[in-house]
Amino acid sequence: MRSIDAASLRRVVAATFEAAGCAQAESMRIAESLVETNLTGHDSHGVIRVPRYIAALKSGEVHPGRSITVVTENPVMAVVEGNNGFGQTIAQQATDLGISKAASFGVSAIALRHTAHVGRVGEWAERAAAARLISIHFVNVPGSVLVAPFNGVDRRMSTNPITIGIPMEDAAPIILDFATSTVAEGKVLVAYKGGKAIPEDALIEPDGQLSGDPALLYGLAYPGKPATVRDGNGAIRAFGDHKGSGLSFMCELLAGALSGAGAAGGDYAGITNAMLSIYLSPAIFGDVAAFTTEVRRFADFFTSSRPAVAGSDVLAPGEPEQRSRERRKREGIPLEDAVWEGILQAAESCGLSRERAESIANGLPART
Ligand code: NAD
Repeated sequence: MRSIDAASLRRVVAATFEAAGCAQAESMRIAESLVETNLTGHDSHGVIRVPRYIAALKSGEVHPGRSITVVTENPVMAVVEGNNGFGQTIAQQATDLGISKAASFGVSAIALRHTAHVGRVGEWAERAAAARLISIHFVNVPGSVLVAPFNGVDRRMSTNPITIGIPMEDAAPIILDFATSTVAEGKVLVAYKGGKAIPEDALIEPDGQLSGDPALLYGLAYPGKPATVRDGNGAIRAFGDHKGSGLSFMCELLAGALSGAGAAGGDYAGITNAMLSIYLSPAIFGDVAAFTTEVRRFADFFTSSRPAVAGSDVLAPGEPEQRSRERRKREGIPLEDAVWEGILQAAESCGLSRERAESIANGLPART
């Protein structure tokens, strides 16, 4: 385990993507997004993804330098094709389109399809909140079927995150952002790589037994086994019994079927995200100051509940991420050795030696 500051991590990740053939701006965008995700505490969606992203680039599953194409559009909606570009570029462009429409008309909906991994969906809600918009996002991953429905044992859905962001005039936005599975796939990956264990009932075996063994998803480990091979014989469970399973079902339809990307179980090449995003402008719905005051009043009322466990805090959505950001900016980002090694190997596979990658992390300019 090591601790690394965000700037060093950003430098080495950006240099890796540049070495892999991405333009400097896109490399920085990917690095900023992944490292910011580690800052929020969601290590499952942070730099642990570098080897997978690089493998997807090399296999032609994701393409650098791509932009969105608008398929259908009117003043308040659009269907957007992501052209298998990096999610950090494509989702940003799709979000900006939704923001500009909602800023003019008070509401907009963008159905995005065929983007590579959009990462932490909260990033897009934060971008909308920075433009003073509420946003709601439903996401699916049609080619990545890992989650069993309530009362089932077979993989039938993806981990399907749902995210809602509320802008605040005077403080960090309120962001609810989670997978509809008991744990995000990346958290199983973190556990598989020796990091934080997942709960004992997060996964389900073919006979219906509950388990926390990540091998149920990823199968037996062997040296060099790619994390994209998920040949275990179990599934992740949907969270919240029939309620989470039903929400996940709706993500498949709202993100997958409506965008044209498709829902789980179809015949898809590669793993892409689809995302239906809805944007609402509090300024056009009414009085922003009154809205913000009511949001603050309710959040204070909510968090003023006596904690169930003495000494713990009752938090509003987004507060754990804010706390993690503050702590990790101060103390550095903890990285498992296997994750750091994965980054160095990914860099090496793109022609950037591990010595050079380490010196870039330590401050050597990426180009000399
Ligand atoms: P999680 O289970 O950690 O839940 C996070 C949410 O719960 C946040 O809104 C957080 O503020 C809130 N929260 C957490 N602890 C809390 C507490 N003690 N009190 C009050 N609120 C609390 O998240 P997850 O399901 O592991 O998802 C992690 C990330 O993975 C998310 O950013 C999600 O968007 C991302 N994800 C992406 C994809 C994709 O395909 N792109 C798929 C799945 C998940």
